[in-house]
Amino acid sequence: MYNILDDAFEKRYAVPQFNMNGLIWLESILKTAEKCKAPVIVGTTDKIVDKLGGFELLVSVFKIMKKDLGITVPAVLHLDHGQTVERCKEAIDAGYDSVMYDGSKLPIEENVKNTREVVEYAHHHGVTVEAEVGSVGGTEDGIYSDLAYADQNECIQLVKETGVDSLAPALGSVHGKYKGEPNLGFDEMASLREATDVPFVLHGASGISDADLQKAISYGHAKINYNTELNIAWSDAVRKVLTENQELYAPMEIFEPSKKALDEVIETVIKRTNAYQKSAEQVTSK
Ligand SMILES: [Zn+2]
Repeated sequence: MYNILDDAFEKRYAVPQFNMNGLIWLESILKTAEKCKAPVIVGTTDKIVDKLGGFELLVSVFKIMKKDLGITVPAVLHLDHGQTVERCKEAIDAGYDSVMYDGSKLPIEENVKNTREVVEYAHHHGVTVEAEVGSVGGTEDGIYSDLAYADQNECIQLVKETGVDSLAPALGSVHGKYKGEPNLGFDEMASLREATDVPFVLHGASGISDADLQKAISYGHAKINYNTELNIAWSDAVRKVLTENQELYAPMEIFEPSKKALDEVIETVIKRTNAYQKSAEQVTSK
């Protein structure tokens, strides 16, 4: 089974996950990753999968666009915050490369039981699984959660009892815009790193300082999720072009500057997570 995070975990960089909210995002993510020779994860949040056309359509579009753009860097399609075991299985059946099962709101025993069921099904199909313990705070695609730091024993239990491929331990990050300074729990991160051997995933990275990000990567965060930062860049560009051109109505002209804005943010993030040129290095080192 291919885990895109293995190389990153070993070499201490992080593969960025960018969430897509339409074809413009997908094209920009794939093109920019290729330009930067960086491995990349395209995330689709369970909450908006159906609004984007459903699992099967997304898998088809993802495959076709990868082929048409001649993408050579590792690029995988991932279900972000899968809400139920069934939804994860649906994504796997449709051809997703990777799924997250988010049982973080459930009691740990139930989270472990459901995650294990997803892992068994996923691994049988060559698909990797991410799980969450604790609660990443804030709002994403209409789902609000209070911030709750992950309990270390629960993290260890989940990793040991499920065989999950990566873990998102909530350690102070927040979805959406931060109110005040982010406060990541580095002490908890360090001791959890000692106790487990799976790559960590950082949710809600938009707004975290470069220094904190590097520190999180050094503790084995091999996947870092970005959504808010892209959407702010996209909406700012749309707002600007419409404000400056009151007569404008041609959709492609309205979208053009927002595509450039997405390209720029994605390239900046790829450099920030140290993924820049990493797939080129992988090829030459083989
Ligand atoms: Zn998330």
